[in-house]
Amino acid sequence: MFASDDFFLNEEERQFRQELSAFCQEQVEPYVDQIERTESWELLRPIVTKLGQAGYLSLPFPKFYQGGIPHPGIVHGVILSEELACRSAAVNGAAATGVIIGRTIYDFGNDEQRERYVRPMAFGEKIGAMGITEEEVGSDTAGMKTRAILDGDHWVITGKKKFIGNNSTADIFLIYCITDPTVDPHRGMSAIVVEKGARGLSTPKVFDLMGWKGLANGEVLLEEVRAPRSNLIGGLNRGFYVLMSHLNGERTLAAGQCLGIARAALEEARRFAGRRVQFGEPIGQKQDVYFKIAHLATLLDAARLLTYRAAKMIDAGIDQRSLSREASMAKYYASEVANIIANEAVQICGGEGYSKENLRAERYYRDARLLKIAGGTSEMQKYIIATQELPGLKIRL
Ligand SMILES: Cc1cc2nc3c(=O)[nH]c(=O)nc-3n(C[C@H](O)[C@H](O)[C@H](O)COP(=O)(O)OP(=O)(O)OC[C@H]3O[C@@H](n4cnc5c(N)ncnc54)[C@H](O)[C@@H]3O)c2cc1C
Repeated sequence: MFASDDFFLNEEERQFRQELSAFCQEQVEPYVDQIERTESWELLRPIVTKLGQAGYLSLPFPKFYQGGIPHPGIVHGVILSEELACRSAAVNGAAATGVIIGRTIYDFGNDEQRERYVRPMAFGEKIGAMGITEEEVGSDTAGMKTRAILDGDHWVITGKKKFIGNNSTADIFLIYCITDPTVDPHRGMSAIVVEKGARGLSTPKVFDLMGWKGLANGEVLLEEVRAPRSNLIGGLNRGFYVLMSHLNGERTLAAGQCLGIARAALEEARRFAGRRVQFGEPIGQKQDVYFKIAHLATLLDAARLLTYRAAKMIDAGIDQRSLSREASMAKYYASEVANIIANEAVQICGGEGYSKENLRAERYYRDARLLKIAGGTSEMQKYIIATQELPGLKIRL
C-alpha cells in the first residue's frame, strides 16, 4: 500500500523514500534545532559527509554511484530534497549545491575533472558553491561583470559574486564569468572551477539572512584569481548554455525542497489543530481551521503532482527545451504553495506559531520565503511559462 501523495512513485522509489526518511530521522533530525539556534556550519558539515558516505549525494552521478538503485534519476533527487528540506532547509541547501554544480561538471567536464571535482562532492568529502549572482546582476544573468582573461596556462578571474550559498565553507566553486566581452554575453560567458585556497579568492562577508540558519551565504571576491586553463567546464564561451542546460533539473529539485518545507509546516499545523483546545474543543474542529487544513492539503498535493510530473519527464529523457514549462510550473507553484502553507501554519498555531519556544512554524515561514526568490524568482518562472503559452507574443524582460 502507498499513500496517495506517493502515487507518482514506483515501488522502488517508494522504498527509497522510506529508507531515506529513516536515515534522516536518525542522522539529521536530532541536530536541526541546534543548527537553527547556533547557526553553526560545524554541525552541518558532518551531516553532509554522512549523506555522502551513505551514497545519497552520488545518486546523480552514475559513474560514482554504488548503491542498489538500478536507474537513479531526478525523481530520487526530488525525494532527497523533500526529505531533507522537511527537516532542515539549511542541510538541504548545503548538500544540494554540491550536487547541482557536480552535475554540471559531470555532464560537461572530462574524466579528469569528474575525478578531481565531482567524486569528492559525490561522497560528501568536499562542499560546492555556484557563483552566478553579482551586486548588479540577479535575474538578468547575462549582465554579469566578472571577467576571466587567459594568461598562458591560466585563467585570471576578477569580479565579485553575491548571495553565494556555501561561500565561506565551500572547497570547489563553479564561477560563471565573461570570457569574451566583445560579443553578446550569451555567447561570451564561460564556467570555470576555482578551488578553495586559490590566491586572490576570499569571502569578505557572510550575510545575516532571514532564514536557512546555519547555511553560509554571502560574497565571493575574486581578485586576479588564477585557475588552470584546464578548469574550464563545457568549452570556451559556452557558459550560458552550460548554465541553462541544467535549469530544468535544478528547478525541479528546488520544487522538491518546497514540498519538504510545505509538508513540515502542514504537519505542524495539523498536529497543533488536533491538540490545541479553545472554546471547549480542539481548534481543528472549528470550521474555519477544518476547511483551511483541507485547502492546504489540496495545494500541497497539487504542488507534488506538478513536481513529480516534471521529475518523471526529465528522467524519461524528454528534451530540455520541451521541459522548461513543466519545470518552471513546478518551481513556481510549489514555492508559492510552500509560502501559503507556512504562512497559514503560523496562523493556525497562533502565538506558538510566532514563537521559537515550542514549535518550528516560524522557521518554516522564514525558510519558505526564499523559495520564491532563489534559483529564479516566481516572476521569472511565469515569464518562462508564458513564452510557451503565448509563443507569438514576445515581451521585453
Ligand atoms: C539565500 C540566497 C541564496 C542564494 N544562493 C545563490 C547561489 O548559491 N548562487 C548564486 O549565484 N546566486 C544565489 N542567490 C541569488 C538568487 O539566485 C537571486 O537573488 C535571484 O536570482 C534574484 O535575483 P536578485 O536578487 O538580484 O533580484 P532581481 O533580479 O534584482 O529582481 C528583483 C525583483 O524584481 C523582479 N524582476 C526582475 N526582473 C523582472 C522583469 N523583467 N519583470 C518582472 N519582474 C522582474 C524579480 O522577480 C524580483 O522580484 C541566492 C539568493 C539568496 C537570497
